[in-house]
Amino acid sequence: MLLTAQLLLSYQRCHRQAFLEVYEDKTKKTAPSDFLNKLRQDRIEQQHHFFTSQTWVTPEYPKYDWHAGAQATVALMQAGAPQIRRGVLLVEQDYSVLYQSLPDLLTKVPGTSVFGDWLYVPTDIRLSKRPKLEYQILATFHAYLLACLQGSWPETAYLYLRERGSYEVNLTLNQPKLDQLLSELLDVLLNQQEPEVFIVSHRCSLCGWLSHCYQIAQQDQHLSLLPGVTPSRYPILQSHNLASVEDLALVDPVHLAQVTGFGKEVAVKLVCQAQAFAQQSPVLFAPKAIETTTPLVVAAPIELYFDIEAEPSLNLAYLHGVLVVDRDDQTQTFHSCLADCPEQEEQVWFQFLDLVLRYPQAPIYHFCAYEVQTVERLAKLYGTPDSIVQPLIERFVDLHALVTQTVVLPVESYTLKLIARWLGFQWRNSEANGAQSIYWYSEWLATGNRHFLDTIVHYNEDDCQATHHIKNWLADFLQSDQSTA
Ligand code: SF4
Repeated sequence: MLLTAQLLLSYQRCHRQAFLEVYEDKTKKTAPSDFLNKLRQDRIEQQHHFFTSQTWVTPEYPKYDWHAGAQATVALMQAGAPQIRRGVLLVEQDYSVLYQSLPDLLTKVPGTSVFGDWLYVPTDIRLSKRPKLEYQILATFHAYLLACLQGSWPETAYLYLRERGSYEVNLTLNQPKLDQLLSELLDVLLNQQEPEVFIVSHRCSLCGWLSHCYQIAQQDQHLSLLPGVTPSRYPILQSHNLASVEDLALVDPVHLAQVTGFGKEVAVKLVCQAQAFAQQSPVLFAPKAIETTTPLVVAAPIELYFDIEAEPSLNLAYLHGVLVVDRDDQTQTFHSCLADCPEQEEQVWFQFLDLVLRYPQAPIYHFCAYEVQTVERLAKLYGTPDSIVQPLIERFVDLHALVTQTVVLPVESYTLKLIARWLGFQWRNSEANGAQSIYWYSEWLATGNRHFLDTIVHYNEDDCQATHHIKNWLADFLQSDQSTA
């Protein structure tokens, strides 16, 4: 069995993912999204940029012939090549397992090894801005394989990170973690122990096995589909024989809080969430919050619905979309303040300000905290006075916060997409999402094809419409509950 660095990375992200990579039929895996392909391309470009200032040699071997690649790499190390790009490290372990890794760069440094008075240290080039633990573990894995091959541990391993540059990995600190992970991973793979499905939306959304795992989770009515059932809470629920949505829907929340130690609010919300799923209808979670929430969603003469498109890796907000709903005139007008290039960010920020300041009394509805954070960031960046920004921010109403504080819905995650779709709203482009929008913008910048920009604007307008839809539903729901109380 070949245990690769890539498999170790998968295992750190999700134990099940590593198992499926080895044992499951690959046709059940979906192709990478455009956004993932963009990230891969960005990493290739980052590597290209890094290597333009370096000289190196690469081992020559037939594609995927790892034994030949490993021999060629060791031959280069024996010959004392100063830098080896994309070398192959291959080490045989017990149980007929081969460990394999492909560090981006091996650099010769003074020291003692089986090759002579030199040895090699590994460097991996990563798109990440920070030295994530999973990358530090991989760098430690490279160092471990090098230690096996050259008879001596390198003193360190390097990550070359975007913006930050070179980062030294503490091998002493990471080696015990690596040992533990390798031992667990071998156990899972050699004993063919398939880890249970556990859907965690932020982790699974970029995984190629999502549709396969999701199907299983739905068939089993798996508790991980319920918002609030986290990987740490799940085993506690299981230990109290609460293994299904129906079990959880029937339990007394006070009893649940006592036996699990979750706290009353968490317990009440979990039970309400299970009931919402079981009944496929919304459940009022916090009746007391109605009085404070309702005034925030009653119809105003003019309402604004606001959504930003941004490229986090460039720290760039390239589109401020605002839907103006004028109830007196019965009109809806969508405005897109769009930067054709990153340099126009300041210009579109002031366009946005001009627009929203034209409606000084209108509440500004948005979904999640990102819009407020971005407005604060842009105000600071472009020197907008507090006397303008603070009254503006006071008009912001976060619908995500209002929904999650008052009601539980039969949705698997409280995202704009899932809530609005549950309410029956449809996006014109069913493939569209925030990550796809980032991909479209990068394609626009690369190709100049205006179709990509138009697609982003349509998508953003639909996001604003979806926010409008949710706000109207919440207002109706709360008012009907008050009238029946
Ligand atoms: S979809 Fe989620 S649970 Fe399934 S393998 Fe991927 S990350 Fe793991």
